[in-house]
Amino acid sequence: MSTRRDFLKKTALGAAVTMLGTGQIKAMPLEVPAIHKNGRTGKMRLTFFPYELKLQHVFTVATYSRTTTPDVQVEIEYDGIVGYGEASMPPYLAKELGTVESVCEFLGRVQKVIGEFKDPTQLEDILLYIDKMDEGNAAGKTAVDIALHDLVGKMFGLPWYKIWGLDPKKAPNTTFTIGIDTADMIRQKTKECADKFNILKVKLGRDNDKEIIETVRTVTNLPIAIDANQGWKDKRQALDMILWLKEKGIVMIEQPMPKTQIDDIAWVTEQSPLPVFADESIQRLKDIVSLKGVFSGINIKLMKCTGMREGFKMLNTARALGMKVMVGCMTETSCATSAAAQFSPAVDFADLDGNLLIANDRFDGMKVVKGKITLPDRPGIGVVKL
Ligand SMILES: [Mg+2]
Repeated sequence: MSTRRDFLKKTALGAAVTMLGTGQIKAMPLEVPAIHKNGRTGKMRLTFFPYELKLQHVFTVATYSRTTTPDVQVEIEYDGIVGYGEASMPPYLAKELGTVESVCEFLGRVQKVIGEFKDPTQLEDILLYIDKMDEGNAAGKTAVDIALHDLVGKMFGLPWYKIWGLDPKKAPNTTFTIGIDTADMIRQKTKECADKFNILKVKLGRDNDKEIIETVRTVTNLPIAIDANQGWKDKRQALDMILWLKEKGIVMIEQPMPKTQIDDIAWVTEQSPLPVFADESIQRLKDIVSLKGVFSGINIKLMKCTGMREGFKMLNTARALGMKVMVGCMTETSCATSAAAQFSPAVDFADLDGNLLIANDRFDGMKVVKGKITLPDRPGIGVVKL
């Protein structure tokens, strides 16, 4: 027996066919928009809670070491669909990204206003409004952005790489980071990951850089990406080091010198046989134009740039300026790495190992299979809770 709804559908279809017969092709929509089905209230609700990430190993870069990362998990629910988001805030980036306290305070304010937006698919208006609510707290904005993208992708029934028209088969290998450590530990860590990855990332920027590379090279000949984390202070020494690294099978250099030494970096980039990428020198979309001619490329990190909306714009802006692109991450769960992985088919290098570094992931999402980023065929950012 047909329901009243079926009847209305058939009537609408009949009307459309009639109109086609008379040449009036601009018929009314045949389907009620999916988001307003079932008479649901259509109100977004945001919830959040702090979630400290436990690192598997002590993590050391040029300027500090740590064993945990502060993090806040976010959910946005709309008509029974839940989108997941995340804010990860390594303490050394607190000024840009926020702290657990400041991000929770910010999210408390977002919680009060998000229900005013009636249509979650209006990502531009909603996220622009949220961006203007605060000067800082980039990671808090990112958490809302990821949760909203996840929600909207689920409403559309499509992963974001499909919405953006990207081929998941083109997702690149991800680097896996070997932190600064003793020679024995570096050898051991390199052995553990050498057959699981196709490219490694090594953190340099101290006075034993050559020693570290020689140590890694006793174990593997895999290509290596270098992150100097602003550690080299003299442009000629930086260039000499890059020339030496080129001979050792290194394929790219990230942030060779302090972000304040713009002219020196531009000089190094011009002379360098390897592409030089900005990380500490860039945060958001507005920063890219001034880096043209200073760096060969940019590292896009969702936590710094307020999320997927702006990250994808940065990718396209960098391309328009003839610059290379890499996508990076913080230590974070598979929620944020899976969000960043959505545009990874369009980048030159990916450094999405943040979820592999923690011991308490909450999600199943993007995977690294034989070193390559593998995107799940699930809508939104493609994660399910573990
Ligand atoms: Mg970096």
